[in-house]
Amino acid sequence: MALERTFSIIKPDAVAKNVIGAIYNRFESAGLRIVAAKMLHLSREQAEGFYAEHSARPFFGALVSFMTSGPVMVQVLEGEDAVRKNREIMGATNPKDATAGTLRADYAASIDENAVHGSDAAASAAREIAYFFTEAELCARTR
Ligand code: ADP
Ligand code: MG
Repeated sequence: MALERTFSIIKPDAVAKNVIGAIYNRFESAGLRIVAAKMLHLSREQAEGFYAEHSARPFFGALVSFMTSGPVMVQVLEGEDAVRKNREIMGATNPKDATAGTLRADYAASIDENAVHGSDAAASAAREIAYFFTEAELCARTR
């Protein structure tokens, strides 16, 4: 399978828990490479735009408040089958349903504050990467 890229966010709850390094270790242990990364404190406008597909959902206001409550780490992960692999590392949206040993099982307190975001498909990965990074910011790691 060809190399693929996916987009990831370490959400404010996990940054506050000081587990950025632990989460990066999970990505790297699974063979995913970090090819771009930065820490940001999202504006309301940035969070609303990023989660626009959920704007009609009842939890949208709470989601935007949470995502702007503190700094996040955003990163691009590269590897074989990266989109699916990252979703597997993350675990289910609701940590109560997340498989033991996944990031959400280990670090998320609730469905509202669930530690990480990961693109759900190749098309959303491309859109989400472009939302936060320019092409020049993506570093080729394969050598
Ligand atoms: P995922 O992050 O696993 O891709 P979704 O795309 O369905 O999940 O939802 C985006 C985010 O919105 C979730 O990670 C979670 O933070 C929040 N969310 C989703 N469903 C709910 C819900 N029923 N109640 C509260 N927050 C939710
Ligand atoms: Mg999603």
